[in-house]
Amino acid sequence: MRREGKTQSKFLKVKCTDCENEQVVFDHAATTVQCNVCGRTLVEPRGGKAEIKSKVIEVLD
Ligand SMILES: [Zn+2]
Repeated sequence: MRREGKTQSKFLKVKCTDCENEQVVFDHAATTVQCNVCGRTLVEPRGGKAEIKSKVIEVLD
């Protein structure tokens, strides 16, 4: 099922550009998300849709 019209939050699978760890993050994260392995910042909150600071390899919805 897909809701249309409204901004939809999603989960993204990202790959850390430093250590290649793959991690699932929320694209509307309200807090900074760091890599579980090396601590690099992967996502920064932007008061809405977060800024993804790493490589998105898959969108999960
Ligand atoms: Zn990392």
